[in-house]
Amino acid sequence: MTDFNTPLLRHSTLPSVGLYWYASRLNLESRLYMGKPDNLTAFVSEIFSSAQGEGVNIGRRQLFVRFAECHRNCLYCDTPVERTEFAAIEREPGSGQFEQIANPLSPQALLDLLGGMNRPEFAHDDLFITGGEPLLQADFLTEFLPKALKLLNLPVHLETSGDLPEPFEKTVEWVDHVLMDIKLPSVTGEPEAWEMHRAFLDIIEREDAGATIKLVVSADTSDADLSHAAEIIRDSGTLASVVLQPMTAASKTDRVPSAKQVLTWQSQMAVALGRSVRVIPQSHKLMGLL
Ligand code: SF4
Repeated sequence: MTDFNTPLLRHSTLPSVGLYWYASRLNLESRLYMGKPDNLTAFVSEIFSSAQGEGVNIGRRQLFVRFAECHRNCLYCDTPVERTEFAAIEREPGSGQFEQIANPLSPQALLDLLGGMNRPEFAHDDLFITGGEPLLQADFLTEFLPKALKLLNLPVHLETSGDLPEPFEKTVEWVDHVLMDIKLPSVTGEPEAWEMHRAFLDIIEREDAGATIKLVVSADTSDADLSHAAEIIRDSGTLASVVLQPMTAASKTDRVPSAKQVLTWQSQMAVALGRSVRVIPQSHKLMGLL
């Protein structure tokens, strides 16, 4: 039985010290905090057009930019976590036909590609920035997003692991909706990130940013992790939508949760938060979409 009253161990350190501690645990300094050699170019793995398959904006037609590289290595990950030599570009939206362009890309090169794809006949609803972890390239995003807004005139949605608050702070003013993860260590097989998620949620609340909080759950989800997640969401005061996303089997794990587990956790989280919690699977995989 989940104990949703379990007290969360709090760090007494200042946020910046907590960030330094977290960065050193995930070997982030060399990628994020020590210099910005690539701040005017970006490593992109894919650009394509599809219907959104996750979260509360499921079904919206979006122009996707998938940034390469991630600082995490979640067990269930289905995307490359390293920089790629080439970006795959679907110039004809929805065609599934890709061509390769050498990385890295300048803001103008990325704008030119997106401008060519955002034709009226495709009726895109949003620009969806995903990864990998796009906030690893936050300096590029601060250059790129204001220009993309002007050129494309589309709301900007950002998907992120939700554990890099400082880069998020730099970019939040151009983001209309953030789809953030709370990473459960029992599911990811990765170090915990509670304090980083807490700082991230504080920014969402302070900036009144549109947001969805996504928790991927597997058969190995621990009660303690769900309890911690409920506590930091509750403490933040955010009323962002909360989604439980049953894990899809991936190359490194087939520990998908049972229906009974998911429904039990949905009720427990909803009671703990005092509001609705939705269960939404990765629908694009069910439909064979990108
Ligand atoms: S945070 Fe996302 S992109 Fe990074 S390893 Fe985890 S699932 Fe993959």
